[in-house]
Amino acid sequence: MTQDNSKLTIAVFAGDGIGPEVTAPCVELLTELTKSLGGPTLEFEALAAGAGHYQATGEALPQTSLDRAAEADAILLGAMGDPDVRYPDGTEIVPQIDLRDYFELYAGVRPVTTQPGMPVPLADPRGQELDFVIIRESTEGLFAHRGEAEETDDSSTDRLTITRAACERLFDFSFELARSRKARGGSGIVTCVDKANVLQSMGFFRRMFDERAAQYPDIERRYMYADAAALALVKQPWVFDVMVMENLLGDILSDLGAGLMGGLGMAPSADIGPGHAVFQPCHGTAPDIAGSGKANPTAMFLSGAMMLDWLGERHDSPQLREGAEIFRSAVDTAFRDGALKPTELGGSDGLEAITARVRAEMQAALAAR
Ligand code: ATP
Repeated sequence: MTQDNSKLTIAVFAGDGIGPEVTAPCVELLTELTKSLGGPTLEFEALAAGAGHYQATGEALPQTSLDRAAEADAILLGAMGDPDVRYPDGTEIVPQIDLRDYFELYAGVRPVTTQPGMPVPLADPRGQELDFVIIRESTEGLFAHRGEAEETDDSSTDRLTITRAACERLFDFSFELARSRKARGGSGIVTCVDKANVLQSMGFFRRMFDERAAQYPDIERRYMYADAAALALVKQPWVFDVMVMENLLGDILSDLGAGLMGGLGMAPSADIGPGHAVFQPCHGTAPDIAGSGKANPTAMFLSGAMMLDWLGERHDSPQLREGAEIFRSAVDTAFRDGALKPTELGGSDGLEAITARVRAEMQAALAAR
């Protein structure tokens, strides 16, 4: 981490497919924004990793990139991987998962927020004003032993691991988040999502949840089995405040959350650890649209805003916090009243149109300060 608070370094893994396409305008907008605000300036350092890099060098995530990322104040990531480029065992190149392990990024934060006028699938007006957060445990669960399946000709067995240490920090993070949301008008509820009715490991997860919940008497605790949670997310997602779950469940249900926001191109995320954090859109590299100009950069922009928030807290910078607010509002205003309809929702607005509109709204907000 930089000692000099006037200049912060951001490690950038643009990655593969549409990763570099959505990362470039995000870096431009973040640069323009932070320069205008007069607080800390951001210096971006491009780092190599991903499927393309693996193809070229035989390495998916070089140690030099990891070392540079470790030194940085935050990590911004586009998307990495390519279904056609695989390790010899047939699995995909996923350095983003390796980063979670390396930096112990235990809390995958997936906000599901919509604004009236945004192109969302739920017709109910309450579905157009969603504001809840999915917390996905991101270092263990069913991903803990990936690549180590016990496999014979007749079967393949993966293992699911839940540890006390990971649970404690995960649940503390979730209850603290609910508490800070409650201070800003949130309902102060954490829902533990699991399959405790079937899997012993998930029963342990729930017991750990109860243990930590005892420390937060001001926050209501609720429980829901994952299948029921999937149904509720479609039928009445507005009942949720903070949801917390195991890695694979979070992987799946956060894509459902992205769907409620209008698509993967709308959904941001942050992976937070004790000393580092990675900010990236929920989507993958979308090879089907790479190079076509159809990529929606909104998820990347909102991830950039989450990064400003996080940096603003860590470095106690009102300018960075204001920057996060301006960036988010610029996105909201750009989409208001159906002004933009991304191609993934059947509209005709792609990378350039969405970027231009968000930039214009951002510049107007800066001019009006
Ligand atoms: P991964 O396994 O790497 O997470 P994925 O299987 O979830 O990836 P994505 O690459 O995210 O797949 O793409 C899923 C679908 O969503 C594709 O049809 C893609 O075109 C679309 N999509 C994803 N991101 C965007 C975006 N930013 N803009 C427009 N469409 C997108």
